[in-house]
Amino acid sequence: MTTTDYSYLQKATPRQIDRLASHLLRRYREKEQKSGLSIVYDITYICNQACPGCCVSAIAYKKGTEIAPESHGHDFQGISKVLHKIRAYLDSRPDLPFFLDFGGGELTLRPDWKDIVRLASELFGRESVGMNTNGTRASVEDLLEIEPYISYIGISIDGLEEYHNRWRKTVEGVNSYQKTMTLISQMIEHPSLRDKLDITTVPTKDNLAQIPDLMRELHALGIRHYSVHRAMQVGRFWERDELLPGKEDYFDLLLRLIETGEELGMNVHLHHSIESIYTALLLGHNTYAGDNIGNPDRKASLGIDPWGRVFFDPWCTVAPWDKLASSSLLDDGMDFEDILRSHGGVQDLIDSYCRIETRCQGCPVACSGGNRIASAAQHIRSTRGLKASAVTRDDLLGALAAVDPACPLYRDGDTFAPPDDADLLDVLRPFREAARGAAQK
Ligand code: SF4
Repeated sequence: MTTTDYSYLQKATPRQIDRLASHLLRRYREKEQKSGLSIVYDITYICNQACPGCCVSAIAYKKGTEIAPESHGHDFQGISKVLHKIRAYLDSRPDLPFFLDFGGGELTLRPDWKDIVRLASELFGRESVGMNTNGTRASVEDLLEIEPYISYIGISIDGLEEYHNRWRKTVEGVNSYQKTMTLISQMIEHPSLRDKLDITTVPTKDNLAQIPDLMRELHALGIRHYSVHRAMQVGRFWERDELLPGKEDYFDLLLRLIETGEELGMNVHLHHSIESIYTALLLGHNTYAGDNIGNPDRKASLGIDPWGRVFFDPWCTVAPWDKLASSSLLDDGMDFEDILRSHGGVQDLIDSYCRIETRCQGCPVACSGGNRIASAAQHIRSTRGLKASAVTRDDLLGALAAVDPACPLYRDGDTFAPPDDADLLDVLRPFREAARGAAQK
């Protein structure tokens, strides 16, 4: 039997361990107050960039050509139908907190994107609506126009200028880093936009080292909120195994994020369940949220694709994951409750494949189990070496029980190390002590 090497955890200094414990504890408490329904709704898979790791395999439109309205998926009436069905579901649960985050593709390519944001705000309230953009198309005037209807604007910057421009191949042939950074600096001039702005980065093996310097550049512009989204092995990232950060990379990244965030006074997050794994394992707090609508991780979202189909995770909307697609909210007679609760529906899938007894092969730690899509993709792609076109629905369902590869317990071959191993408990001791100290502050 192979043993798991925890030496990377032992490299953390006492100061780093204290910072990490305080950060994770604060995030844990914030998330505890935020249960409810969260949805990422992709309203187009057309984009003006062609990133080699696009997780939704967005299609870059051809420069100089008109984008046919139907290529975005559904028209405004279709989107309105989806939003009204979500509203009807919430009406029967008046106390359920809700957040809707619009994504794509590049949603500002839709001529009706502002109307969609306004309608969502009318139905759910501005505090419940957010959007994500690559920041190369909308002007600051556009964003000021929709600011009264929105509470969150995520803009992606994937590294320093050379990396960002190499990664984000633009259709328009502009320097997209300069374009997006110019928009960000214009937004910072307006407190109402500045406070809603979050800059997001997807880490790869190639940009990990430059993230602290990117944070310093962003801070110089006045950015206060910065998030790193986990690299998900989906879409065009499916076959980019060589770029996927490993568990050691993520631990080191989180330490550096927290350290740099503290140095600069920035609010930082590392998304997609990595923080919840560390909170469970290193700090000993329960992050398994079996009552969450969606993955059993507080604030995990459901996904909706441009054709109104609902997915148990926003990261499983494209091939091969679309083999798990539910019916569409655009289907007559199909409401949101049906899609969630019907036999074989979204919640059925979660209850069958993501519950504590099955996720991560039934690991006994009181843990969310990290991210099911990242776990399954690692299992199917890196362990079994399957191409996306060869993956069946049964492969996907079987792989949902795999261990999250970002977890310190993860072992090659997709097994987990015993969480009560004496060596591990020794490694965890300083983290648990720091957590007790942080809890008393
Ligand atoms: S193996 Fe899975 S459930 Fe267990 S601690 Fe790791 S991520 Fe959490």
